[in-house]
Amino acid sequence: MIGIVASITVCVHAVAALLGTERPAPAKARIESIVLPVMMYHHVREPGPGLADAASLRYAVSPVEFEKQLEYLQAQGYTTIDTHTLDHAIRTGDPLPPKSVMLTFDDGWETQFTIVYPLLKARGMVGVFFVHTGAIGDRPGAAMSWDDVCRMEDDGMDIESHTVTHPSLPQVGPDALARELADSRSTLEARLGRPITALAYPFGDFTDREVEAARVAGYRIAFSTEVGLVQRLDEPLEVHRTIITFADTTDDFAIKLTERDGGRALLDYRPSITRETRAASVQ
Ligand SMILES: [Zn+2]
Repeated sequence: MIGIVASITVCVHAVAALLGTERPAPAKARIESIVLPVMMYHHVREPGPGLADAASLRYAVSPVEFEKQLEYLQAQGYTTIDTHTLDHAIRTGDPLPPKSVMLTFDDGWETQFTIVYPLLKARGMVGVFFVHTGAIGDRPGAAMSWDDVCRMEDDGMDIESHTVTHPSLPQVGPDALARELADSRSTLEARLGRPITALAYPFGDFTDREVEAARVAGYRIAFSTEVGLVQRLDEPLEVHRTIITFADTTDDFAIKLTERDGGRALLDYRPSITRETRAASVQ
């Protein structure tokens, strides 16, 4: 009996091996990630009142340097894309335009309208502007107005959500979390007359709870401050971004643009609450 069992075992393996040659061709290998530099800016202006200390300068780029960065992108043949193009690529695995880059601007500062938008427009580039709706029009001289927002949208810029009041979302209760995500989205949709599908987590702070809440609120992609150029297609609510600071030269910018880790060695930014740091804190 032992001999028979052994021979049957061999036969099964042999048949499987033969059949293997006649199986249908395997499905096209599934793409798991795409490479896309997503640059994160806040203020684009010279240091001055409210923007002078070292901490603040992490969130600023001078207009002169910013223009050099745009010129570099042009000279290198980069294409700026908006969140809709990225969303499509993440959903379908379709390739992005060659040498795609995304330029994002957080917090709705007025200088993003007066300085950034004209510089982008002059070069036929698109920017993504994450605004917290509670501040629009509320800080004359500092924040953008609704007129500014609408003019940029009408001119092809991409306006997306950065919540209503810009809290660190992991610190708020579930009701406030849902409100921050839903109300900013509905306000922008009413003003702009189109679906709002992208979110930037304030301060880059998020945990699994915020990812799920963003999904429930109807966002299709969300942006963190996790650094790196590799975007996972199965994590569309955790898109990586790389901060550009006042200290960055054009050479630094080029490194952040091309190294897969987003030039991590050059980074100096507020640590985010992430899965990793949260896990570390409970250990
Ligand atoms: Zn912000």
